[in-house]
Amino acid sequence: MTDAYTRFVRSAPGRTIAKQLGLPRPSRLLRREDRPEPVLGPVVVLGRSAGADAITSLLLAEGVDVRRRFDELRTVGSVVAVLDEVAAPAELGEILLPLAGAMRSLAPGARVVSLSRPATGEDPARDAARGGVEGWLRSLAHEMRGGGTANGVQVADGVPLDAPSVLGALRFLLSARSAYVDGQILTVDGAEGSAPADRSRPFAERTVLVTGAARGIGAAIARTLAADGARLVLLDVPGAGTELARLANELRAVPVQLDVTSAGAGERLVAQLRERGLVLDGVVLNAGITRDKMFANMTPDRWDSVLAVNITSQITLMEALIAAGDALGPQPRVVSLASTSGIAGNAGQTNYATSKAGVMAFVAALAERLRELGGTANAVAPGFIETEMTARMPPLNRELARRVSSLRQGGLPVDVAEAIAFLASDEAGGIHGQTLRVCGQNIVGR
Ligand code: NAD
Repeated sequence: MTDAYTRFVRSAPGRTIAKQLGLPRPSRLLRREDRPEPVLGPVVVLGRSAGADAITSLLLAEGVDVRRRFDELRTVGSVVAVLDEVAAPAELGEILLPLAGAMRSLAPGARVVSLSRPATGEDPARDAARGGVEGWLRSLAHEMRGGGTANGVQVADGVPLDAPSVLGALRFLLSARSAYVDGQILTVDGAEGSAPADRSRPFAERTVLVTGAARGIGAAIARTLAADGARLVLLDVPGAGTELARLANELRAVPVQLDVTSAGAGERLVAQLRERGLVLDGVVLNAGITRDKMFANMTPDRWDSVLAVNITSQITLMEALIAAGDALGPQPRVVSLASTSGIAGNAGQTNYATSKAGVMAFVAALAERLRELGGTANAVAPGFIETEMTARMPPLNRELARRVSSLRQGGLPVDVAEAIAFLASDEAGGIHGQTLRVCGQNIVGR
């Protein structure tokens, strides 16, 4: 799905006009079906630490073409900058500056990923270096061309660089599955998690519930998880029953018609799971609505309905699933849908932003609770995604929202689905309470 402006600037006359006027020209983003290889090579691993050696060995073991210098490489597919041992800002240049001379050799859709440690407040010089990595990374993401992205993984002290979630996050950020994740830093704070037995079907033998699954992002999540081997329980309101049944048939999934805001919805869901003998390994809390109005015109029904669907239902659903004792598997993965509006705020969306900021705080607290059970809770915050929800925006606002990201285009539902599939995977067991933005580095918020 390409918007009309993008189609125009990719046409021969449009290209000339856009060039002359200096208009943004969005690059085609390569996704899973366009770029089957998991890691675009050759990969240059920068850094001299033991961690850099370990990452090099692991990539080599997977058959990836790995180098430690740019040398005479004409094209570079990916760059991994390993900065885990930097002790002062003066040490950053030696590791990072070789990439400056190679920026023009980066392939279309290239990936740059930094591996570093978070500031701890213990050592001012070391924290300055660790914090500095974030500024470098976020600026580099703005400078990437050709649909390339730059993202980082921050690994808590004490967690080894070859922990499953570090490698999982690295693989995800190097792959085409992270096409619309840009300028983001994901924190790994635990050594939990495990690599899937079969990389082509990481959700084999796993059962995952997706709420709001009948269309849009929810349907894309269902399709992505099904392609990854999951058994699915797809939930939506009775009014979307026909669409839901069609998708459930297509994906051989179990449909559940339920309004998540109705009284006792959680208990009814638990009863349906028991009836079918289903235990959930993953829960994707995707059902959501917008009822936009400036706060001066906000009415109780607009306010209440948005909070009820977008956050209160998530709290009650999770309470019921946890309380049931037999509804969740041994290492449950919960992924919720936040929004960049919840991070930066947005005029006309006080109700929506309240609910979505609530989601981020909710998953952080839920993560603590689920950690005791061996589980995780995280969120994704989509920016502008092309769905029926955003198709209803006023045309000018919609056009602007598409262009204010580093990738100069809206994302697709599948981009959000891919990030959710990663966070819901066994491999992401060391990632707790995070919100990962899928926004093409939209300029709103941090
Ligand atoms: P959508 O409106 O296309 O789909 C939402 C689905 O949720 C629908 O199938 C709807 O029937 C279902 N739903 C709504 N109320 C429900 C209820 N009470 N019980 C059960 N199901 C219910 O929306 P979308 O664009 O696919 O958005 C999906 C999620 O992503 C939402 O949480 C949304 O806030 C979030 N999000 C979307 C965007 C975007 O750009 N589209 C950006 C940020 C966040």
